[in-house]
Amino acid sequence: MPTDKKVALITGANRGIGFETARQLGQKGVTVVVGARTLQSAEESAATLKAEGIEAVPLKLDVTKAQDREGAAKTLTDKFGKLDILVNNAGVGPQDGMFIVKAVNTTEEELQNIFGTNLFATIAVTRSFLPLLKKCEAGRIVNLSSILGSLTLHADPNSPIASVKTFAYDASKTALNAFTIHLAAELKDTKIKVNSAHPGWVKTEMGTDQAPMEIPEGAKTSVDLALLGPDGPSGRFIHLGQELPW
Ligand code: NAP
Repeated sequence: MPTDKKVALITGANRGIGFETARQLGQKGVTVVVGARTLQSAEESAATLKAEGIEAVPLKLDVTKAQDREGAAKTLTDKFGKLDILVNNAGVGPQDGMFIVKAVNTTEEELQNIFGTNLFATIAVTRSFLPLLKKCEAGRIVNLSSILGSLTLHADPNSPIASVKTFAYDASKTALNAFTIHLAAELKDTKIKVNSAHPGWVKTEMGTDQAPMEIPEGAKTSVDLALLGPDGPSGRFIHLGQELPW
């Protein structure tokens, strides 16, 4: 089914910011591929979007599973032959939901789990889909980072995030930011743009209901970066159009 419309893959699109990102991109005429850990949740979410008039395609993609990544890349190659937008949205927070864990008390299991999804799987997913992104006029990669990945802000005792020190999660997003910078530099002579997004503190399962930002606002940064024009930035860390310090 070759298409003139833009095609976007959003990972972890069955709920939270990822689902809303798929919805908002779909509302702007993009064909959205709804990536989710299970086929059932991908199908349910795609069906909800289709009922809203959005062109949505379900895709089973547990980002940590090599077999899923290979299968997903083949499916999109066969179906569209290209990928315009990759939103690396899937992510996990601290296992116990507790956001304050001392760095020295962080277990190896916690580090493996969080880095496994937020960093290693994101790199692997990007590697799988880069050939398809290169087939497009202007590929866009959005890495869902967090302001908690900012070393500059963590190092400043007066910054608003100074007290929110959740080592494994924060460090995984810092490392993801490094990936953004490196990949953007490697792709600087192509039309592909790569950026890190901080969505805000958003009312999702991860953000909890204490978060001040509603989900539609929380998806805005991802959507803006997914639809950047040719003059837009690459290799930057952005929240609602503003640059954040690394
Ligand atoms: P969420 O509501 O907890 O949703 C996380 C999504 O990621 C779910 O769809 C989940 O799928 C998916 N996921 C996790 N592991 C996966 C895997 N191995 N394969 C495929 N999908 C997987 O979180 P959210 O708040 O929407 O967060 C989205 C992104 O924004 C994350 O990267 C997060 O770190 C980042 N972020 C969020 C906030 C915030 O305040 N909410 C702030 C800064 C950054 P399941 O349903 O199968 O678990």
